[in-house]
Amino acid sequence: MTPVLPPRGPHLTDASAPALADGPIPVGVLGATGSVGQRMVGLLEGHPWFRVAYVTGSERSRGLPYREAARWAQSRPIPPGVADMEVRATRATDEAPLVLSALDAAVAGPVETAFAQAGALVVSNARNHRMDPAVPLVVPEVNPDHLELLDVQPTRPGGIVTNPNCSTIGLALTLAPLHRSFGVRWLHVVTLQAVSGAGIPGVSSMEILDNVIPFIGGEEEKMERETRKILGTLGEEGLEPASLQVSAQCNRVPVIDGHLACVSVELEDEPEPEEAARVMADFRGRPQGLALPSAPRRPLHVLEAEDAPQPRLHRELEGGMAVPVGRVRDCPLFSLRYVLLSHNTLRGAAGGALLTAELAVAEGRVPGRRGAT
Ligand code: NAP
Repeated sequence: MTPVLPPRGPHLTDASAPALADGPIPVGVLGATGSVGQRMVGLLEGHPWFRVAYVTGSERSRGLPYREAARWAQSRPIPPGVADMEVRATRATDEAPLVLSALDAAVAGPVETAFAQAGALVVSNARNHRMDPAVPLVVPEVNPDHLELLDVQPTRPGGIVTNPNCSTIGLALTLAPLHRSFGVRWLHVVTLQAVSGAGIPGVSSMEILDNVIPFIGGEEEKMERETRKILGTLGEEGLEPASLQVSAQCNRVPVIDGHLACVSVELEDEPEPEEAARVMADFRGRPQGLALPSAPRRPLHVLEAEDAPQPRLHRELEGGMAVPVGRVRDCPLFSLRYVLLSHNTLRGAAGGALLTAELAVAEGRVPGRRGAT
């Protein structure tokens, strides 16, 4: 078990990270006015590698200053460099070699393809391209090698990389070390998901206050198939999904940020809970090795308190980029049980996409830019 580090603050990015030799990369933010887009804009403030080149939205926002178009729902003010930017229509351009997309899934698919065709690397939060066999679905600590799929995309040097579903990211982060050490056979996961996961305006107060909604459209299917792709193996024939099976049940609860997940997992080897907890606490990945600006020092924090993790207390750990894990214990039906928490708009969306973009920069995957290491 490991002690809790103080959160990295005031926001997650390590502004002391070394600057890029070619100067900051101009970044386009698509869907910048929504729940994830706002987080993205906030995280880009003072980022050592990126500067916001333009922001886009729907027809509703086109032509308005960002501060008027965005129904700003963050506790920190709108970054001054973006507040007066005019929100553009979301039309493909090669103005920025890197594009971060927080577009509604109803429009993201063809729009993101058009930006990739125009020559940009698009890092997307939307579901549309996630299961395309040529598109990497990346959790940077878990499957950074999947970025190699960019080499087979027809839009090279532009391309699309996707960020998994917000609940899947935390789950995959905890499963990766267990799978490597003990082999995951199958698991059952029950989620309690925050309202910010439904976007802005999202779920109405009359629906969610004093209530739990035991249905989130498409969420269970996403967790079940995306987990297998992320933990899959890249070979000569492309990506082979992991053979493990996932059963998910997803619930919306009256919490603002932070998805909790209760996991019961069957493993090929049967570790003691202490050993499983140690393997999770010791887990590190390429972002930590490369000291990427948004990388948490430790992706997983195993908490000892019998009632941890809790959304209100633990979601900001390491700027919302670390995943707290607790209650690692025996299970009468499966090998092991535990509870995890992931901040859905930080690690589960904007922060996760930013970390993937930083990994892409470090690996020389942004068109026209050299690698950072
Ligand atoms: P949201 O709050 O509803 O924001 C959607 C964004 O898309 C807004 O900026 C909106 O612009 C823009 N948009 C809508 N229709 C458009 C159109 N026809 N043309 C151009 N832009 C359009 O949603 P969100 O929660 O931020 O989610 C954004 C994406 O991330 C979704 O694909 C979602 O599934 C995914 N995601 C969300 C979370 C989360 O926790 N919220 C986590 C992981 C992934 P206007 O404001 O100008 O209308």
